[in-house]
Amino acid sequence: MALELFDSKTQELRPFTPLTAGHVEMYVCGPTVQSAPHLGHLRSALVYDILRRWLIATNHTVTMVRNVTDIDDKVLVNAGSRDWIEFAREVELTFDEAYLALNILEPTHKPHATEHIADMIELTKKLIQLGHAYQATDGSANVFFDTTSWPEYGELTNQKLENMEGESDVTFGRKSPNDFALFKAHKSDEPETAAWETPWGKARPGWHIECSAMAKYFLGESFDIHGGGLDLRFPHHENELAQSRAAGDQFANFWTHNALVTINGNKMSKSLGNGVSVKDLEQAGSWGAIRYWLSSAQYRSNLDYSESSIRDAQAALDRITGFLKRTTNVKVIEIDYAKLPQAFTDAMNADLNVPGALAVLHDVVRAGNTAFDASDTEKLLDSVEQVKAMIHVLGLTFVYQEPVISEELQRQVEELLTKRQEAKLAKDFALADQIRAEIEDLGVTLKDMKDQTMWSFNG
Ligand SMILES: [Zn+2]
Repeated sequence: MALELFDSKTQELRPFTPLTAGHVEMYVCGPTVQSAPHLGHLRSALVYDILRRWLIATNHTVTMVRNVTDIDDKVLVNAGSRDWIEFAREVELTFDEAYLALNILEPTHKPHATEHIADMIELTKKLIQLGHAYQATDGSANVFFDTTSWPEYGELTNQKLENMEGESDVTFGRKSPNDFALFKAHKSDEPETAAWETPWGKARPGWHIECSAMAKYFLGESFDIHGGGLDLRFPHHENELAQSRAAGDQFANFWTHNALVTINGNKMSKSLGNGVSVKDLEQAGSWGAIRYWLSSAQYRSNLDYSESSIRDAQAALDRITGFLKRTTNVKVIEIDYAKLPQAFTDAMNADLNVPGALAVLHDVVRAGNTAFDASDTEKLLDSVEQVKAMIHVLGLTFVYQEPVISEELQRQVEELLTKRQEAKLAKDFALADQIRAEIEDLGVTLKDMKDQTMWSFNG
């Protein structure tokens, strides 16, 4: 079975086939850099990191775009009296630090909205020419998308325009309550630097047009996967789709949305005051455990945070690293995805069933420990290879560092092992035991397998 993904536009599982064989193009809505990341941001970034890693593991090259919305109402408000672009860059840095700590791969492109204003103007001009957008009726520089001109408006979220509420009052030169801003006229209380010269006057882009323009710039008129959090599905993604399709582009072939993070079963919200910050997480456990926990629910299910979440994840992770530590001298030269267990592959192909994949990982760790205890070298080697390939796919390799063993120590241990083997062959068991003690004094644990002696360095 090949990869199937749940397309949230058609609301069904569809076999995933890239538009260009062997190459996948993804656009994932990145953060609006208005305040430090919360758990929902981290989860979303991680879901698409795992999808990307899985596509790579299954022989695809991947171009991934994750934008940074650095101009937005909230950025300007939260910057207060500070220079807003400096503020936005500072917030962006807190996102980058968290992504790095979580071992999330850098996107291929990380465009800032402010770097693509010209592309947004071009797209807006095109929409006006095609009769799908208009300059505000009040003569301001506001430009709106004309939802009544686009019969398919609502297709992403399966809504009919006549049933949508839209804005309660038709103001700012809007013709219809559901029309949304492509450009927003400069307001006198906003900094001069937060407005650009456009054919309609001084204005700044609306949030939705940013993603349509950046996706087109990097990925062209059509691409494979559009991703983002469920909270962005409406209106953000609905509006992205309407703009791009109305401009004549195919846009995304698959729409994917990750579910939210809840806190003790409740929605995470400012008003409830139950937000969990990156700092709270760091205090709860290692970044490996945080990554493990964030990936532990299937991406379309809510992920619940409770006090024990990270502790439990750490315990699960320790079982994996404990196994790898026992088997440090089982050398796996290169990660070989061909070694992935079929059950793991099946789980990942089933709409990225990571909890299922983690269950397989733990099964193999258990089998590996059994093989170790039974001195079954061949089965043990299989298990180590499989575990290493699986944690590579899941981006968990950083949780375990191979201990650094000096060449000197390596040589010493191997020489002593040879001497011990000779003593055993000569049935001089007292000498063999004495050599064993000598080796253990070097901080090394020995394990006699059927046909060889394995050793691991305790340091
Ligand atoms: Zn977006």
